[in-house]
Amino acid sequence: MNPQLRPLIDLQALDLRMAEIKDSQRKLPVLLEAAQAPLTEIIKQLTDLTALLETATKERRSLEKDIEAHDSQTEKMRTRLSELKTNKEYQAHLFEIEMANKKKGEIEERILVYMEKIEQQQKGITEAHAKKAEAEKQFVGEKARLDAQQAALTAELSELEQKHKEIAAGVEKGLLTRYAKLRASRKDQALAPVRNGICFGCKLQISPQLVAQVKRSDAMLFCSFCGRLLYWEGEPVSDAAISSAAAPRPDDEAGESV
Ligand SMILES: [Zn+2]
Repeated sequence: MNPQLRPLIDLQALDLRMAEIKDSQRKLPVLLEAAQAPLTEIIKQLTDLTALLETATKERRSLEKDIEAHDSQTEKMRTRLSELKTNKEYQAHLFEIEMANKKKGEIEERILVYMEKIEQQQKGITEAHAKKAEAEKQFVGEKARLDAQQAALTAELSELEQKHKEIAAGVEKGLLTRYAKLRASRKDQALAPVRNGICFGCKLQISPQLVAQVKRSDAMLFCSFCGRLLYWEGEPVSDAAISSAAAPRPDDEAGESV
């Protein structure tokens, strides 16, 4: 295998891992948001329940005031009973008091309905508080996990960037440009290993001639289908194999193409 390819293979491995890390880092905020969703939901429920409870409590208080007003009104009516002269007036007044009492009964029933409602709402709020505490606990745990993941990825990335710089510094500039160009046009994968006669960049079978060249030659050889720079990944070739095969170099029209 062309020894110049070794650093490029390492660079590619670094580039692929760095792209993977950046991709994971992009997904982290989405994961964090998803982890927070149940907590946000229960806080909203709690706010809604609290508002409902406030409304019901106000309503109940207002009805209680109605009762007080009502009581003082009927009290006055009762006092007036003794002042009435005729039986007709008296009976009419008694009827009014009776009607007033009936109305009071209705208000009291409405108060009972509100009291029941308030009790249920308070129970709901207590339950929501418990759920909120649980959701908070879950979120804090998940956030810590994601933060740790973020920190680990950032550390790994800066380490890989350093390695990348070091390796790139040892590669001839023209070759590096060629690699970058190929990488841009081949979805981050500029080089592809040859395994079992197949280019692992495009998974197509290349000619046995080209396979043999990749195995032995120091030339830059490219896949005839996808144009990726090919390298040999199998067992090292023995000297005997090289000398016996190297003599008549076949045409490599399938090779140098970039
Ligand atoms: Zn290919």
